[in-house]
Amino acid sequence: MGRVTSLDELPLRDDLRGLTPYGAPQAPLPVALNVNENTHPVPDEVASDILDDIALALRDVNRYPDREFTALREGFAEYLGHGLTADQIWAGNGSNEVLQHIMQAFAGPGRTVFGFAPTYSMYPLIAQGTGASWVAGTRDDDYSLSPDDAAAQVAAADPDVVMVCAPNNPTGTPLGLDVIEAVYEAARGVVIVDEAYFEFAPHEAVSAVTLLHGRPRLAVSRTMSKAFAFAGARVGYVAADPAFIDALRLVRLPYHLSALTQAAALAALRNSDTMLRMVDEIVEQRDRISATLEALGFTPHESWSNFVLFGGVDDPPALWRALYERGVLIRDVGIPGHLRVSAGTEAETSAFLEALASIGSHS
Ligand SMILES: *Cc1c(COP(=O)(O)O)cnc(C)c1O
Repeated sequence: MGRVTSLDELPLRDDLRGLTPYGAPQAPLPVALNVNENTHPVPDEVASDILDDIALALRDVNRYPDREFTALREGFAEYLGHGLTADQIWAGNGSNEVLQHIMQAFAGPGRTVFGFAPTYSMYPLIAQGTGASWVAGTRDDDYSLSPDDAAAQVAAADPDVVMVCAPNNPTGTPLGLDVIEAVYEAARGVVIVDEAYFEFAPHEAVSAVTLLHGRPRLAVSRTMSKAFAFAGARVGYVAADPAFIDALRLVRLPYHLSALTQAAALAALRNSDTMLRMVDEIVEQRDRISATLEALGFTPHESWSNFVLFGGVDDPPALWRALYERGVLIRDVGIPGHLRVSAGTEAETSAFLEALASIGSHS
């Protein structure tokens, strides 16, 4: 009683010893621009529409939900377009769960998962959780990737799973479809394109879902957490060949998507025009952040997402702390000389930029 056991004393898996859990700080600051959420609340009329459907679903909540979440898969197929059908769609409690399903099916003990660093910090954690090893590739100085270099790295590493984040988190870097085609040709394993931020890309940008036909080892994941302002609902999805989707059925827990989640996600999707109306405004604030950072003497990187990674920071922890003390939470992603900030509402973005200007020096 009362004695606190340390992790070292427990018979933990050897391959998990020494790992650190995902830990973006969650602090109740007035301006939270640290985890790339959509800071605009769900519009009132959509919220009440969603609530009506949740209320209906609640009446049947004594029964297990549709294990195949068929209506929701049809909804995502229609949203993605390009002739996709429900048998090419899978969903989970956040795209992180979808990525976990993929790695449970295609990675696991003795296998490797490869990505071009710096990239999304959850890839190594999800890979290691399944017992696989993470192999980090590299990028050019501006974080871009050329088709030849990317293909050569994948051919040399010969991984079981390749994670390609497009646009890339935490750098915001766009990625051409030519790079994905080259990586797919060079890969023996499956290739996952994580399009978590696709809706924030220029309107003429083309999704990797257009490459799915004839590429059974390719999968494209999306999330409702960012553009749809639905992070708290936990809904992500993936499009791939029907056989690839069948592989995920082997590892998912039965009824993993609750009836309430399915109802909420379907209602949100039905309102996607309204839900996505704030995307243009967020993009405007993102570009305003980049322009102002540049004027202040920082070096923002090109971003096709809802956040900006900027260099020219002499002491990132000190600047992070100074902003924190002014009520603004951003993210130190561990890249030397850099910090990352999400685009907020116009008021939140102003609060960040004004706090930054008031700190003055780059420290
Ligand atoms: C935010 C993010 C996700 C989404 O995670 P969810 O589990 O859907 O909330 C996926 N990939 C990347 C690169 C992200 O930044």
